[in-house]
Amino acid sequence: METLYFSPMLLGLNLMLASAVACTALWYFSRPYRGPGFWMAGAWTLILGILLFMGFMASGSPLLNVLGNATQLAGEAILLLGVFRFLGLRPPYWTVPASAGAMAVVNCWYWISPINTELMVALYAAIGGALPLQACHVLLAERREPALRSVRLFVGITLLGYALVTLLRAAIGVHDWLQQVEHQDVTRSVSYLLPYNFGIPLWVIALVGLALMTMRRILQDSQRHAREAEASAHRFERLMGVANAGMLVVEDGRILDANPMLEQLFAQRREELLGQPLSQLVGEAEVPLLANLLRQADGRPHDIEARRGDGGGFPAELAIASLDESQQRLVEIRDVSHRKALERQLLHLATTDPLTGALNRRAFEERAEQELQRARRQSSPLCLALLDLDHFKQINDRHGHQVGDDVLRQFSRLCQQQARRTDLFARYGGEEFIFLLPDTSADSAHHLLERLRMALQGLEIAAPGGPIRVSVSIGLASVSANDDLHHLLGVADAALYRAKQLGRNRVEMAS
Ligand code: GH3
Ligand code: MG
Ligand code: MG
Repeated sequence: METLYFSPMLLGLNLMLASAVACTALWYFSRPYRGPGFWMAGAWTLILGILLFMGFMASGSPLLNVLGNATQLAGEAILLLGVFRFLGLRPPYWTVPASAGAMAVVNCWYWISPINTELMVALYAAIGGALPLQACHVLLAERREPALRSVRLFVGITLLGYALVTLLRAAIGVHDWLQQVEHQDVTRSVSYLLPYNFGIPLWVIALVGLALMTMRRILQDSQRHAREAEASAHRFERLMGVANAGMLVVEDGRILDANPMLEQLFAQRREELLGQPLSQLVGEAEVPLLANLLRQADGRPHDIEARRGDGGGFPAELAIASLDESQQRLVEIRDVSHRKALERQLLHLATTDPLTGALNRRAFEERAEQELQRARRQSSPLCLALLDLDHFKQINDRHGHQVGDDVLRQFSRLCQQQARRTDLFARYGGEEFIFLLPDTSADSAHHLLERLRMALQGLEIAAPGGPIRVSVSIGLASVSANDDLHHLLGVADAALYRAKQLGRNRVEMAS
């Protein structure tokens, strides 16, 4: 009798142990999915309950009996919480203390004022059978994730089967209690056979169902991720294809991928570019800057000189961004020849006088300040000369404004011919011009300006009424320590005034 009694019990325990191990493996391999953690915790709690109950069988201790029964029901309740967690619903945590507590009360009652064993077993089965009903309901009623519908049905129906078998056992227990049925050999009773022949197998099938449900979700998710990754790759491909800029993917400084626009920009086929170092797309002088930008990968645009396969270059704007956590970089290259030309044009317009092409006053002052600072730093000589055409108003009055303009242009050209590369020459306003002569002593400057004055004197300018001649008066100032531009201009202006006073067409040196 004892062997008969113990062997199904051990078989049950071993089956439960196997399912607890399987639940643990499921939890481990499906992390971070939610639900399997509860299934694992529930299965092990159930085993703890069985062990406590076996302790009671061996010792007859009422405490172990109460703890064993209550812990088994708590384990079942914990396991079922995982179903809610898996479905993203709030688990009914109250079921754990409620089922374990109710069982403990019934069990204590059994020990304090002995009630019929059949009734106690019936009450245990009633609680154990009622517990899965809530989980069955949510599994069968859930509408989200249609791909999991069939496996949810499978688990729901299996759990329902388990619940019905357990409730049937409860009903038989109540019947036996009411009918005062006395079992000589409890292992031959239906209420004993039901859980072992139907309850435990259904329970195991339900656990397999839970594992299938988890796997199905993992499969769904990975298929969705694969679809998303494919769509994202497709979008990226399209983006590269339609981008108005040359785009490259670079790894370890070498070209991994290039878009059609890049092929156009560099007049090279994609196949030729792949595997080549990125540095071959820029001028040699730009290689250190490029290496720096590849390291920083901050996505900010930088001007760089690009170099084509045929050796020709073009000004480009280059931005490098990090593609992901790997070493891959996304490089964007735009041809900015137009912008550069526009910038040059704007700079020209902003710094030159439209009539004569000489520097304008503002550009002159900016550059003159720098030259003055340099002269001061290096203690080198520097001269400044103001030039004013003589009786220019009369030229306008006699020959017309057009001729006046032509005189200004010709005088300016003459000055620029006489100037050295390092000299600054500008139209200072009206018919006044200015020279800044770096590294030039007062004597040399006087000599140069005298030559200019003579050249102008000998220049015949065509006018409708016959060729005309003009002269210029020049005030020359030489820089001395700590002279600023403003002061130097004042000194040169005073010298120019004196030149006018002394009869014009002469170079006057500031005293
Ligand atoms: P001075 O010998 O004392 O310098 O006499 P000036 O007639 O040269 O000097 P003034 O300052 O009296 O006259 C300068 C003239 O230059 C007056 C102005 O109409 C003329 N002028 C200024 N800018 C232009 C220009 O762009 N084109 C022409 N055609 N004339 C200009
Ligand atoms: Mg004047
Ligand atoms: Mg004048």
